Amino acid sequence: MPTPVFRFAPSPNGYLHLGHALSALLNFDAARSCGGTFLLRIEDIDATRCRPEFEAAIAEDLAWLGIAWQAPARRQSEHLADYRDAIQRLAAQDLVYPSFESRAEIARLVAQREANGRWPRDPDGAPLYPGTAKLLSAGERPGLPESGAPYALRLDMAAARARAGELAWIEQGEGPNRETGTVAANPQAWGDIVLARKETPTSYHLSVVIDDALQGVTDVMRGQDLFWSTSVHRLLQQLLDLPQPVYRHHRLMRDSGGRKLSKSTAATGLRELRARGVTPAEIRRLVGLA
Ligand code: GLU
Repeated sequence: MPTPVFRFAPSPNGYLHLGHALSALLNFDAARSCGGTFLLRIEDIDATRCRPEFEAAIAEDLAWLGIAWQAPARRQSEHLADYRDAIQRLAAQDLVYPSFESRAEIARLVAQREANGRWPRDPDGAPLYPGTAKLLSAGERPGLPESGAPYALRLDMAAARARAGELAWIEQGEGPNRETGTVAANPQAWGDIVLARKETPTSYHLSVVIDDALQGVTDVMRGQDLFWSTSVHRLLQQLLDLPQPVYRHHRLMRDSGGRKLSKSTAATGLRELRARGVTPAEIRRLVGLA
């Protein structure tokens, strides 16, 4: 049996809150209890939102919680060539096409479609890509513009799905509706996902899958909000011939209104709680870990 490898993969676009503490502690404890490795990965591909000071704060807050990771942390922005290479491998299978609509144009196309009935939405509630590039066959698709115009590279979901066949993943935690065990992947629910944009040569889905494979991650433990993203991750793993980890999605920390914590506030931010004299042991209790 290979040594289990766990990871915590925050984006440095804000300060850590109790939801992050739960995820980091679950992964760290699981690695420690089975003699496995715990890695930290900084998911900083969105240059407009990620900041070095947030990354420094992540390291400081985790160390304060008593969490140690195998150095160095992998910083996604330093590995763009790995993601470009993966896109080329998908493009070589005729599974990638460029689209050129702006976000505003896409919103307008969706509104037009919705005038005639419901337009499908992905599991996160965002409308599926309605654009015209989708309708072209592999031979009719334009190449990338020489002009410097913005574009997004999309996965041709129908072709990708046909190539990969039926897929499932092993869920040892549970999904939002208690899905567990062998869960059938449903990547088509996400439509023709963006793999990369002109200004960001990768995307969340692509870089997560590449990094989990390159880092030898065997056990992905993360919040239930990412449960259905796993469908896309399984598809990309299959198309790129990457190993599949075991998945364990965990409960989410919620605010008093029942919403998933999305940003650090006075009541939930680790720095704020620390400044008020809350101890790491109390943080464990606050997130429901003994
Ligand atoms: N970077 C993602 C987040 O902060 C987590 C990615 C993952 O665990 O797969 O939500």
